[in-house]
Amino acid sequence: MNAEIIAIGSELLTPTKTDTNSLWLTEKLNDIGIEVMLKTIVGDDGARLEETVRDALRRSDIVITTGGLGPTEDDITRKCTADAVGRELEFHNDIENHLRERFKAWGREMPEINKRQAFVIAGAEILPNPHGSAVGMLLDQGGKLLIVLPGPPRENKPMFTEHVLPRLQALAGETVVRRRLLRVSGLGESAVDEIAAPIYSSYGNVQTSILFNKSEVELHIAARANSEIAAQGTADEVADKLNAALGKAVFATNGETMEEVVGSLLRERGETLSTAESCTGGLIGYRLTEVPGSSAYFIEGAITYSNDAKIRELGVEPAIIEEHGAVSSECAEAMADGIRKRSGTDHAISVTGIAGPDGGSEDKPVGTVFIGYSGAKGTKSIRLVLPGDRYLIRWRTSQAALDYIRRQIMSR
Ligand code: ATP
Ligand code: MG
Repeated sequence: MNAEIIAIGSELLTPTKTDTNSLWLTEKLNDIGIEVMLKTIVGDDGARLEETVRDALRRSDIVITTGGLGPTEDDITRKCTADAVGRELEFHNDIENHLRERFKAWGREMPEINKRQAFVIAGAEILPNPHGSAVGMLLDQGGKLLIVLPGPPRENKPMFTEHVLPRLQALAGETVVRRRLLRVSGLGESAVDEIAAPIYSSYGNVQTSILFNKSEVELHIAARANSEIAAQGTADEVADKLNAALGKAVFATNGETMEEVVGSLLRERGETLSTAESCTGGLIGYRLTEVPGSSAYFIEGAITYSNDAKIRELGVEPAIIEEHGAVSSECAEAMADGIRKRSGTDHAISVTGIAGPDGGSEDKPVGTVFIGYSGAKGTKSIRLVLPGDRYLIRWRTSQAALDYIRRQIMSR
């Protein structure tokens, strides 16, 4: 079974308002094995809307519209969907009475234009709306389902969950989808696929997609089966095999962020961390402290942007900066040692680099970053040359630094 979604409202065609309803609906539909094949956004234009609904019903099993059910002139969904299926709108006294009651309960008189909301497509089932004034509709049109939902998310979500989902679930049969999300760091998209494809392609009932995020590769696994246990079992099996094949490059097996993973590793071991940041300006500390409970392991972070601050706050020898420059492995290591000594942590991580767009040279181009690590087993560093603009270079530096500390902790 396939579905399509039509989001209605001219504001959704402006640069400031995003259609989030269809994202949420797609997730819910996918969970019961219904695939969304097409999405449309239509402005408040009667002819285009009617045509869109008619086309949708021709090609899709399930058509869901959201929005445009309000009482005002520009709320055209009722009329256009009725026209698209060649049916009349019927007035329902009980809906009008219910609306009057609602208004009375708020201590207000119902404006006469709200009577429009008491019209329903002939033959459609009425979907109650406890969170707003517009009822939804569900119509079986020659074996195709037309589902008309209000626009405000706090109204259409409960309406869908309570009145639509059980119906679709019954139609879709016992299809259950269970997901796993693996996150990979330090390997490119194609390198990941080369390792992963032989594994996931041997499963007929598993859909795997590989996405590249700004600093990591994501492996989305969706397993389909006729029971929850079977679907979860297959998803877990594929995730386990991929995890084993990709090795240490997999940093999360359940969609966790890098900062959460580093946090759990430190917490499990009862160890602590400090940071010394130059080109990331506190981004690593920010990410670490986004995780609730991070005070258990994150002790201190220094933002030492200038040479003077690196010398004064971290005790970096001026000679190191004079000889090797602030962007160097020597400086990165001295920074990590410096913050670790000052804070007394088990681990310390440092970054120094050139985020650009200016400041690059031939042997240290923009994107050159040194990441230093200091721990009980000693001090070391790596050099990376990261692609991207200033934003991406800074983000990727923070990711690489967190990954570096992750690998250090795990190798102990
Ligand atoms: P109302 O009775 O509130 O007018 P409605 O069904 O007419 O309901 P709209 O007027 O289309 O709905 O939208 C009301 C509000 O709901 C919008 O201003 C917007 O904030 C939100 N909304 C509508 N459609 C979407 C969508 N596709 N994604 C996210 N939010 C939406
Ligand atoms: Mg409206």
